[in-house]
Amino acid sequence: MPRSPRSIPYNEAMSRFPGVDYMLIDSLFSEQELLVRATARKFVDERVIPIVRDCFRDARFPKELIPEIAQLGFLGANLEGYGCAGMSNVEYGLVMQEIERGDSGLRSFVSVQGGLVMYPIHAYGSQEQKDQWLPRMQSGQAIGCFGLTEPGFGSNPAGMQTRAKKDGDQWILNGEKTWITSGSLADVALVWARTDDGIRGFLVETGTPGFTISDIHGKLSMRVSVTSSLTFSDCRVPASAMLPGAQGLKAALSCLSQARFGIGWGVLGAAMDCYETARQYSIDRKQFDGRPIASHQLVQEKLAWMITEITKGQLLALHAGRIKGQGKIDAAHISMLKRNNVAMALECARLSRDLLGANGIMDEFPIMRHMCNLETVKTYEGTDHIHTLVIGERVTGVPAYK
Ligand SMILES: Cc1cc2nc3c(=O)[nH]c(=O)nc-3n(C[C@H](O)[C@H](O)[C@H](O)COP(=O)(O)OP(=O)(O)OC[C@H]3O[C@@H](n4cnc5c(N)ncnc54)[C@H](O)[C@@H]3O)c2cc1C
Repeated sequence: MPRSPRSIPYNEAMSRFPGVDYMLIDSLFSEQELLVRATARKFVDERVIPIVRDCFRDARFPKELIPEIAQLGFLGANLEGYGCAGMSNVEYGLVMQEIERGDSGLRSFVSVQGGLVMYPIHAYGSQEQKDQWLPRMQSGQAIGCFGLTEPGFGSNPAGMQTRAKKDGDQWILNGEKTWITSGSLADVALVWARTDDGIRGFLVETGTPGFTISDIHGKLSMRVSVTSSLTFSDCRVPASAMLPGAQGLKAALSCLSQARFGIGWGVLGAAMDCYETARQYSIDRKQFDGRPIASHQLVQEKLAWMITEITKGQLLALHAGRIKGQGKIDAAHISMLKRNNVAMALECARLSRDLLGANGIMDEFPIMRHMCNLETVKTYEGTDHIHTLVIGERVTGVPAYK
C-alpha cells in the first residue's frame, strides 16, 4: 500500500518556501489540509526545485520522480478506493498548487493521470477496467494519457473526426489526436472517438497494432512535460475497451472539469513563486544611490497588484474547493476559476520578469520558465476565450461560440 500523506508526521514536512498568505487565508484551512500542503511543499523543495531547471533546459520529464509522487498519494489523490489517497478537493488543490510552484509540466502530468484518466475510469469504467487500471495508476506503475484534441479540432472537440466502428466483438479506431500530454510515457490512452452511437471513450493500450505515437519537439513551453501525437490506423480493440458509462462529449468534458479545477489551484503556485522571487529581488537589488528598487513606488505598485490578485485567486480557489466538496460546483464555476487564476498568474509572471530586469530572462530564476509554461496553461483545457464564452453564456443565457 502506498504511504498516504496522512501518515507523514508534520515535523517531517517543513519547507524552505515561506508561503504566500497576506490575508490570513491559512486560518481557513484545516490542520489536515495544512499537513498535506506541507508534505507537497517539502517534496517540491527537495526533489523538484533542484532538478527542474536542467529538466526544462533539456526538455526532459523527470520520470524518476513518479514512484515518489505516487507514494505520497498524489496520483488520483481525490479519488476513493483502489489505493487512492481519498483527499478532499481542497487538499488535492493544495497539492496541485505546490507541484505547479515546482513546474506546470510536472503538475500537468499529475493532472492528466488523476483528473483525465483515473477519474473517468473511476466514474465511467466497468468494474474490470477499474480493477485493471486504478491500482496500477495510483501507484505509478501504469501511466495514462487523454486524447481529445485533433489537428483540426481544438477548441471545438465536438467536431472530432476520429471514428470507432463496431466489428463483431471489436472496435476499429481510425484518426489522429495531437498535443497529448504524457503520450509516449503512457501505458494506456483514453481516446475519444465518434461512433454510430455518439462520442465514446476507449482505453487503448500502447503496443496495440495500428496505434502509433510520436513526440512533439521544439516546444518553448512545458518543456518538462512530454507532448505527443497519437495515430490510429485500423487499430482494433476489444469491445471491453469502451468506457460503458461515458456517453457523449459531456463525459469527456466532465473529466476536463476535474483537471481544470486542479489548474485553478496549480497556477496559484506558479504565481506565488514569481511574486516571492520578485519581492525578495526588489529588496536585495540596489539602484540609484544604493537604494533597493523596492523603495520605488512603481515597483511597489507591481508587488501590490500581484499580492492582491494572488489573494483574490486563493479565495476563489478555496471557495471552489469547498463547494466542490459539497457537490454544488458546476462547469461554469470552474471556468471562472481557471480563466481568472491563469490570467492572473501569467500577469504575475510578466510583472515579476520586469522587476528582475535583465536577470528576469535567465533560467537561474524560475520566472521566465513559469511564464512560458503559463502560455500553454492559458490555451489548454479550454482557452481563455472559451471560458469567457462559458461565463458569458451563464450570465446571459445566450451561447456565443459560433
Ligand atoms: C502543451 C500542451 C498540452 C496539451 N495536452 C493535451 C492533452 O493531454 N489532451 C488533449 O486532448 N489536448 C491537449 N492539449 C490541446 C489543447 O487542449 C488545445 O490546444 C486547446 O483546446 C486549444 O485548441 P487549439 O490549439 O486547436 O486552438 P484553436 O481552437 O485553434 O484556437 C486558436 C485561438 O482561437 C480562439 N478561438 C477558437 N474558437 C473560438 C471562439 N468560438 N470564440 C473565440 N475565440 C475562439 C482560441 O481561444 C485561441 O485563441 C494540449 C495543448 C498543449 C499546448
